[in-house]
Amino acid sequence: MIRIGGLEPFTLSDYPGKVAAVVFTQGCNFRCPFCHNSSLLEIEHHQSQKLSCDDVCNFFRKRKHQLDGIVISGGEPTLQNNLTSFLITLKDMGYFIKLDTNGSNPKALIDLISKRLLDYIAMDVKAPLEKYEILSGTSLPYEKIKQSIKIISESNIEHVFRTTFVPPLLSDEDILSIKSMIPKNSPYIVQPFIKENALDKTLAQP
Ligand code: SF4
Repeated sequence: MIRIGGLEPFTLSDYPGKVAAVVFTQGCNFRCPFCHNSSLLEIEHHQSQKLSCDDVCNFFRKRKHQLDGIVISGGEPTLQNNLTSFLITLKDMGYFIKLDTNGSNPKALIDLISKRLLDYIAMDVKAPLEKYEILSGTSLPYEKIKQSIKIISESNIEHVFRTTFVPPLLSDEDILSIKSMIPKNSPYIVQPFIKENALDKTLAQP
């Protein structure tokens, strides 16, 4: 079962070059202090039952003439047990699929890429590895982040790596350090931090 925490029915800004909708999966293994999707972090959030997988699939069946792409975001989509079968259903409808990921699950990336279920991948690179624990709020084995960067950059799939610049947790030197982790041929963007609704309320203060 895919746990779905929300659906944005129309967006021109989340999938480059595509008219798309966004599916927000429920549950994340990170607790980034700057996260503004706090309602999507707990895997069992009670709101998650509002939308079933069937509801969402029926929505996309009806919208095929209006939408080109679907962004699978979260939360962290690769935590979902049935992500593969969900994406097969959406691909069979003819949609382009973009995955937003925190890069913590290289094994899932290999699986989805090998099954040709992804058309675009956006991976957040939160920090230089020595600061990852602070910026991700977890003590994941960060070797996985490096593995995911390698897998995505060598996948021949359109992709982007991106960092949210969160002062004072990140400095200009940190951004240069992150940039040095990204292969030269891969696009890399730095996004501004939006204070409103940040998980760490001390960051949200003016
Ligand atoms: S990876 Fe971080 S920013 Fe993204 S949903 Fe999880 S906690 Fe929020």
